[in-house]
Amino acid sequence: MIHYDLSFDFLDFSAAQLKGNALLEIEVDQNSIDSIHLDLLKLSVDSVLLEGFPLSFNHNDTILSIALSQSANVGDTLILNIHYGGVPHAEAASFGGFFFRSGMAYNVGVAFREYPHNYGRVWFPCLDNFTDRASYDIHVLMEGGRRSTCSGLLQLRDSLGGDTIIEHWSMSESIPTYLASMAVGIYDSTSYQYIGLERTIPIDVYTAPSKTASLAGSFANLRSCMRIYEEGYAPYAWERCGYVVLPMTGGAMEHANNIAYPSFAINGNTSRETLMAHELSHHWWGNLVTCERQEEMWLNEGWASFSEWLFLEKQYDWASAQVDVEARLHDLLKNLHHDEGGYRDLVSIPQEITYGSHVYDKGALTALALREYMGPSLFTAGIDSFLSNNQFASINSEYLRNELEKYTPIDLHSFFDEWVFSPGWASVSLDSFRFTPTTGLTDVYFELSQQYKGRDFNSKLLPLSITVLDSQFVTQDFSVELSSLSDTFHLSSVISQPAAVFVNRQSRLPLAISSGEMVIKSPGSYSFSNADVSLKVNSLGDSALVRIEEHWTPVPMLVSDMSRLKVRPNPDRFWSIQGIALGGMSAEMSFVYNGLPSSRLDESLSSVPEDSLVLLHRSYGQKSWTIYQNASLNTSGNSSDGLGAFVLTEVAFGDYAFGIRDVAAGAHDVQEKLTRAYPNPCHDRLYIENYEELESLTLTNVLGQEVSIPEMNFGILRMEKLSPGMYILRMKVGGQQFEERIVKR
Ligand SMILES: [Zn+2]
Repeated sequence: MIHYDLSFDFLDFSAAQLKGNALLEIEVDQNSIDSIHLDLLKLSVDSVLLEGFPLSFNHNDTILSIALSQSANVGDTLILNIHYGGVPHAEAASFGGFFFRSGMAYNVGVAFREYPHNYGRVWFPCLDNFTDRASYDIHVLMEGGRRSTCSGLLQLRDSLGGDTIIEHWSMSESIPTYLASMAVGIYDSTSYQYIGLERTIPIDVYTAPSKTASLAGSFANLRSCMRIYEEGYAPYAWERCGYVVLPMTGGAMEHANNIAYPSFAINGNTSRETLMAHELSHHWWGNLVTCERQEEMWLNEGWASFSEWLFLEKQYDWASAQVDVEARLHDLLKNLHHDEGGYRDLVSIPQEITYGSHVYDKGALTALALREYMGPSLFTAGIDSFLSNNQFASINSEYLRNELEKYTPIDLHSFFDEWVFSPGWASVSLDSFRFTPTTGLTDVYFELSQQYKGRDFNSKLLPLSITVLDSQFVTQDFSVELSSLSDTFHLSSVISQPAAVFVNRQSRLPLAISSGEMVIKSPGSYSFSNADVSLKVNSLGDSALVRIEEHWTPVPMLVSDMSRLKVRPNPDRFWSIQGIALGGMSAEMSFVYNGLPSSRLDESLSSVPEDSLVLLHRSYGQKSWTIYQNASLNTSGNSSDGLGAFVLTEVAFGDYAFGIRDVAAGAHDVQEKLTRAYPNPCHDRLYIENYEELESLTLTNVLGQEVSIPEMNFGILRMEKLSPGMYILRMKVGGQQFEERIVKR
C-alpha cells in the first residue's frame, strides 16, 4: 500500500455509525494478480470502483475480496475507491476498536485479545499488519461545534455554511495501519512549541473543555521529556507531536503524532506522567522502527517501558527509576514464569501474551541491561545511529544487534544470545571478601559467583558495579566484569577502613535478585517488601545501613559444605543481609517458608517434612556455610503443611537459606571441582579458588621434585620468584585431591 486517502461523514453523529470512503493507492508487487484481499472487520461495503468502473467484491465480515476486471502486474498502480459504513467494532476487552463514547468518536489501533493485534481494519479497508507502511490523508465532515484530530498535520479547515465544517489532515511519514488515528468531538486544543535539537516541533493537545485546566499540571514535563528522548535516542523525526484526551478506561495508545490518552491521567499533577513519557517514546520505539513480527513486540513495548525509566532518571535522578525497577524485579522473579507459562525468550512470545509482562517488563529490563553492557555513551551513540539510519522501517532483534555492532566497537552476540534469544535470568552472589590495610588505604579482595534461574548456563560477561563502604557509609564505586562461573577480584587503594561491599547496588543490571536498602536510625519494625522479610530492630547504637537481597536462585554452596553439613539447600531462593551498624544493632526477624505452590515461594519444600528443615547461614564475607543455631523452627502447629518460619532472636549480617537435612546429600556431584587455580598460564599471580577450604597444597615441577610453596595471601600465590615452566599444583579440599598443570610464564 502506498497511500490511504480516507473521508468520513459525521453529520449524523447520534447514529453512532461510520460513513466512509477510502481511496487506496496500491502498488502491485506480483505478476498476474486477479484479485485483491483487504482486511475490513464488520462494517458493510457499498461499492468498489477502479477508475470509475465498479468491481465485483465479496466481504465476509473479515476479508474484503475484490475481483479485478483485468489482471495486474508488478509495477502497476491501482487506485481503488471503496464506499463503506456501518456500526464499527470494538474488542470485547474494550481496549481496541472504534468507539462512539461520551460525545466522541475515535479509534484505538491495537486489540489486546484479537488477532492479528493490528486494528486498522475496524475503521478502514487496509492491509492490517506490522510491516506494510503507507502515508495518509484524512478528511472529516462534521457539525455541532465538533472538531477532529488525526494523524498528520491539519492542512485545511473549511466552513460549509452554518456550523458544518470539513477538516483535512495529511501525514507524509509512512506508518503501519495500527498507528493511524482519528478522533472527533468537542475539543479545546492547546499548542506548545518545543525547541528541538534540530528544529522546532509543534505540540498540540486536544482535550474536552472540562479537562483543559488540568492539562498544564499533568503535562508540565512534556517538553523536557521530548528533550530527554532526543538526547538519549535521536532527534524527533515526526512533523508534529500530539495527544488527544479520550474517555479510555485503561491504558493509552501511541498513534503516530496523535497519541490517544486517557482522561483519568489528566488530573492536574504529574502522578501519571510516566504514561505520557511511555507513549511519547513510541515515536522512537514502535512508530519510527516497528517490530516486524508481533512475537518480538519487546522491540516496541520493552523499549517504551525502558523509556519510562530513562525519563525518570534524566528528569529527576536514577533513584526515582530504581524504585520501579526493583519493584518490578520482585514481581517478575516471583510471578512471571507462573503467569506466562514458563521462562521465555523475547523473540517467540505467543500471541495471547503479546502485551504481557515478558514483553513490557522483561523487555524493559533487557534494554536496561544492554545499556549497562555497552556503557551509557556507546549505548546512546549506537541507538542514535541505529534510529537515524532506519527511520520508518520494520526491524527484528537480530537486525538491532547487527546494527548496534555496526555503529559501536562492541560484540553483542553473547548479550543477545543470553538476554534476548534465551529465557531466564542471570544472577551473582558475593561469596567472600577481605580487607587488607596498606598505608592509610586498603586493598579489597572479593569473590563473586554466578547463578541462574530459568536457564542452565552462566553469562559470558556480567558488568557489575562494586560499592565499597566505610563505617561512616562513605562510598567508593568500582566496575568489574565477571566473565566466568566464579572469580576473585582485587581492588587497590580503597578508602581507609572499609566495612562493607555491595554488588550492583543501584540495580542497573537486572539480575535474579530483588532488594531493598534502608538507613535505620531508631528501633522499630522495618519492612523490606522487595525481599519478603521484615526486620525488628530492638536496640541501636547510632544508626545502621541495612541492605537485604532476596536471591531467586539456588544457594551458592560448595559440595564440601553439603557433605559436611549433610544438607541440601533449598534451590528456590536465599537471602543476603548486608550492612553496617554503627555502635551495634540488636534485631530480630523471621524467615517465613511457604511450600504451597500458590505461594510461588518455596515450591521445592512442598513435600518436605518440616522437622527436617534447618536454617543455613554464612557470615558476611565468609564463603563457608553452617547451620544457624540461634534460630527456632516454628512449624505453625503442623509440620507437614509446608508453612512455617525460622525465628531469629538475634540477626547477624550474612547469607541465609533454608536447608533440608539429607544423609544422602553430597553423594552426587563428587566430580565437581571444589577448587581450581587460574589464570593459566600465569605470570606473577596465581589465584586459588576456595582457598579457605584448602586442606593441603603442594607444588611440584615437571621432574616430580617438590617446589616450596610461594607466599600465599588471601588465595593469591606470589609466583614471581619461580622460574618459567610447567608446575603441578595438588590441592586437597573436602577430602578430595585436585591436580592442575600450571604454566608459569
Ligand atoms: Zn506502549
